[in-house]
Amino acid sequence: MAAARPTTVAYFSMEICLEQAIPTYSGGLGVLAGDTLRSAADLRLPVVAVTLAHRQGYFRQHLDAEGGQTEAPSEWQPESRLPQVPQTVTVQVEGRTVTVRAWRYEVRGVTDGVVPVFLLDTRLPENSEFDRTLTDTLYGGDSRYRLCQEVVLGMGGAALLDAMGYGEGTQYHINEGHAALLCLHLLERRLSGRQPWEASVEDVEAVARRCIFTTHTPVPAGHDRFTGELTREVLGDRAATLDSLKLWEGTDLNMTRLALRCSRFINGVALRHQQVSQEMFPEFPIGAVTNGVHAVTWTAEPFRRLFDKHFPEWRRDNNYLRYAITVPIEEIRDAHRASKAAMLDEVERRAGVRLDPRVFTIGFARRATTYKRTDLIFQDLDRLRAIAHKVGPIQIVYGGKAHPKDDNGKAMIRRIHEAGRKLGDAVRVVYVENYEMTLGHLLTSGSDLWLNNPMRPLEASGTSGMKAALNGVPSLSVLDGWWIEGCLEGTTGWAIGDDYTLPSDPAGDVTELYYKLERVVVPLFYGMPYKWGEVQRNAIAINGSFFNTQRMVMQYLQNAYVPGSGADSLLVQPTA
Ligand SMILES: *Cc1c(COP(=O)(O)O)cnc(C)c1O
Repeated sequence: MAAARPTTVAYFSMEICLEQAIPTYSGGLGVLAGDTLRSAADLRLPVVAVTLAHRQGYFRQHLDAEGGQTEAPSEWQPESRLPQVPQTVTVQVEGRTVTVRAWRYEVRGVTDGVVPVFLLDTRLPENSEFDRTLTDTLYGGDSRYRLCQEVVLGMGGAALLDAMGYGEGTQYHINEGHAALLCLHLLERRLSGRQPWEASVEDVEAVARRCIFTTHTPVPAGHDRFTGELTREVLGDRAATLDSLKLWEGTDLNMTRLALRCSRFINGVALRHQQVSQEMFPEFPIGAVTNGVHAVTWTAEPFRRLFDKHFPEWRRDNNYLRYAITVPIEEIRDAHRASKAAMLDEVERRAGVRLDPRVFTIGFARRATTYKRTDLIFQDLDRLRAIAHKVGPIQIVYGGKAHPKDDNGKAMIRRIHEAGRKLGDAVRVVYVENYEMTLGHLLTSGSDLWLNNPMRPLEASGTSGMKAALNGVPSLSVLDGWWIEGCLEGTTGWAIGDDYTLPSDPAGDVTELYYKLERVVVPLFYGMPYKWGEVQRNAIAINGSFFNTQRMVMQYLQNAYVPGSGADSLLVQPTA
């Protein structure tokens, strides 16, 4: 066999959830990015990642008694815990030269694999006061700030990798449009000396051979768009390449379209999301790689011990989770009881409310944004009270931040508090503030049921239900995103509604939600505990074994990262 020269995959993402103490993410996109890198490290793939340092983080959420949200920065100092990369680079922003340095974080796998993450940082004395803030705040500031950040991420990040010696063989995985300007960097480098107007479609094709693009949302606000005027101000002369190659959308710069034009492999993050994205962008061939979660990270300690006892290989090879199908139900239930106790203890510690471990506990945690309809279950409080009274007691634990500028999301959090007050002891409701990685871990592992009721078809994938599945927590969810693939009715959980191809009918969804709770889910929980245990077990064996990032990364490897059919590009980390 010819000596394989390993290809490096450079994974670019505006947010990456590395660990609890590093607040460089806001939600699902960042958690997915972190889980992807954790699995790449487990698999010893030659992947490196680029993101921003986000010294001010996203924000710390505080909720008052009425559910009013206030925000505080969640600062961290990269220099206090990470080594600095020796190389620095410069980028042009609004005609100024901005110096970019980077901190090196290492994601360590369960094997000896390591994935380096470079966190870009412009807080340097030689930069202007404004430029020093460019790598501070995730999704803060106005569109000018955002575009400047994206120049640092895409063009600064790509330049840094050049300076570090990642050569021509490097492949670029653009995780959501924020990093699409790296394509402009690659185009310029290819032109090397030729004028922008000499750039050709072949040049775009050459760049596309090196890029992979994953789109993450069918919500229009999730696709960055900047006016031509702003783009020309920020990019200066470099906008000429966009002109000559007609990379504009009308007069605007659409980051998604830029990435679509400059990538050879494009995918949505679940089968349904592929279909919806294909309708949004009919001129590009869009594939599907369904998301996952990092199994070891999101499995709570009681289940880790259980899996270690029955199939210790699961940490290295997540396929072994399939063998959960033979684990005795009693052991599944004992492990879940321990996870639930841990969650209730922490809820008491954080929110000062002691919930009853015998009571059926619904978990709901995600970004508080309109389409997620966090308060759907409170549409008819009498109906909910009646179900709890007649079929069995119910309590609900919530978590989730609203974006600081999202007044509708904030109002939704207040409505949940109000509903909780009205329900009192009939259905106890606790909203735990500051949803982040640790809280997500507790809620997805300690609840009895994971509820999700977004407006179809806006949930690209969703991943918290996958975390729940790994912990033997079944989902009750609208058929959208991953749940279309994961729901085997009555076996791995339950669906709200049936025809996933139709847009949501809000009234119908509410009716179906109450119906399923009253007639199917709550009666099963209280009346047939063994059968309930079987659903828990199926959630692990059937869904946990598939909806993990190890399977997902292997799919990227097989379908996207290995260019053409060349066996010489088989990806392995060089051995030391
Ligand atoms: C898993 C996770 C998310 C994403 O969950 P979705 O179901 O995809 O919305 C967001 N935030 C945190 C803290 C998480 O742990």
